[in-house]
Amino acid sequence: MNYIVFDLEWNQSPEGKESSVEGFPFEIIEIGAVKLDQDLNQIGTFHQLVRPQIYQKLHYKISEVTHMELSVLKKEGCLFPEAAQAFLNWCREGGESIFCTWGSMDLTELQRNMEFFGMSIPFPKPLLYYDVQKLYRILSGDGKAVLSLDQAVEEMGIREEKPFHQAFDDAYYTGKIMRNIDFHRVKDFLSMDYYRLPSAREEEVYLTFPGYSKYVSRVFGSREEALKDKIVNDMVCPQCRRMLKKKIRWFPVSQRLYYGLAVCPEHGFVRGKIRIKKQEEGRVFVVKTMKPASESAAEDICARRDEAKKKRTERNRAKRLAQKSRKQEA
Ligand SMILES: [Zn+2]
Repeated sequence: MNYIVFDLEWNQSPEGKESSVEGFPFEIIEIGAVKLDQDLNQIGTFHQLVRPQIYQKLHYKISEVTHMELSVLKKEGCLFPEAAQAFLNWCREGGESIFCTWGSMDLTELQRNMEFFGMSIPFPKPLLYYDVQKLYRILSGDGKAVLSLDQAVEEMGIREEKPFHQAFDDAYYTGKIMRNIDFHRVKDFLSMDYYRLPSAREEEVYLTFPGYSKYVSRVFGSREEALKDKIVNDMVCPQCRRMLKKKIRWFPVSQRLYYGLAVCPEHGFVRGKIRIKKQEEGRVFVVKTMKPASESAAEDICARRDEAKKKRTERNRAKRLAQKSRKQEA
C-alpha cells in the first residue's frame, strides 16, 4: 500500500463570497504530491499548476500565501481536468494507495472541482484517508490545539530550504511529518471524507477505531427527521456491538450537538455523541460516536444533562415572562 500525500492550492472569487459562482467557492490552481511506499520512503513526486477558468484574478489572500502570479499559472498551468487526470494516473502507478492530507479540506475540494468540470469520481465510497494533522494531534496528547503545518514543521525541527511551489512544499512536509511521527501507533485512525455521503440506508457507514466507534448516516431532510430515525437513536457498544440500554437519552447541548449515556453489561458505561452536520437546503446528516466512559465521565454527562435542562427551563420561563408582559402592554 502506497501513501499519496497531497496538497492543493485554490483561488476564490477576488470580489468576495457574494460574487462566487454557486456551488463552486474554490478553484484549484495547483496540485502537489509525494508518494510514499509502505515503509514511508518517498518514491515519487507530482506537481502541476492549473490555469484558472472561472476566477480570472487571484484573491489578494491567495497571492499573499502562495506568492503565485496569475501570469505564471496562465503560462505554465494546464486546464483542471487535464491536471486532475494526470494526478489520478500518477496515483495509480505502483499499485494501491491511500490519500493523506494535512487537515480535512483537500479531498472535498478536489472532488468538488472534478464534479464541477464534469469529471466522474473514481474513489470508493466511503472514502477513507489519513488526516495527518489529526494523527499529529492524537500523538501529541489530547488537549493540544490544532496546529498549522508550519507550526508542526517548526515543532519537529524539520525545516529545510525549499524554494518550491506552495502545494508541493506542503505535501513534501506533510510526508516528512508522517515519517517523523510514530505513524504505526495511529495507523488505525482513518478519517472519512464527507463529500459524497451515504445516499441510502445500505450505504451508511459504521467504523471501529481503537477506543471508539463512528457511524455516519445517510442524508435526511431535516434535523428533526434525523433525530427520529431508529438507527440514529440507537446506542451500540463500541467493543462488543451489543445494542445498549440507554441510561440518559439523547439531549442537546447545542443545536448541532447531542449527548447520551448507555451501559453495556460487559463493558460498563458508554458515552454517545451525535453531531448534526449541515448540508444545503436544510438537509443534514449525522455523525455519531460511541466511546467507553469512566465513572467520572458518566457523571460529567449527567451534570451536562442537568445543566442543559436548567438552561431550557430558564429560557422557557423568560419566554413566558416576555409573552406575559407583551399581553399586559396590549
Ligand atoms: Zn460491550
